Amino acid sequence: MRVEYDRDICIGMFQCVEEWVGFEQDLDAGKVDLVDGERIDADWGEEVYAVEVPADEELDAEFSGRVCPVDAIRVWNDDGDRVV
Ligand code: SF4
Repeated sequence: MRVEYDRDICIGMFQCVEEWVGFEQDLDAGKVDLVDGERIDADWGEEVYAVEVPADEELDAEFSGRVCPVDAIRVWNDDGDRVV
């Protein structure tokens, strides 16, 4: 599973932090950081980071994407299908 996160879209509501340890609050910036995320070029956002999710964290990671109110988080399964 792969998570992509656009820090530019994020409005710092912090619901994702409650669901998955892969996101950490940056209270000064009013954003979250994607832990170990690598900055990538993506056609859907301006400041996108990506990370591969450990198998035992996949459900939590998926929920983090589902609760984001501004769709700043996208999730793909190992077959390359977008699930969130
Ligand atoms: S839920 Fe979405 S808007 Fe809220 S902190 Fe997480 S990524 Fe940002």
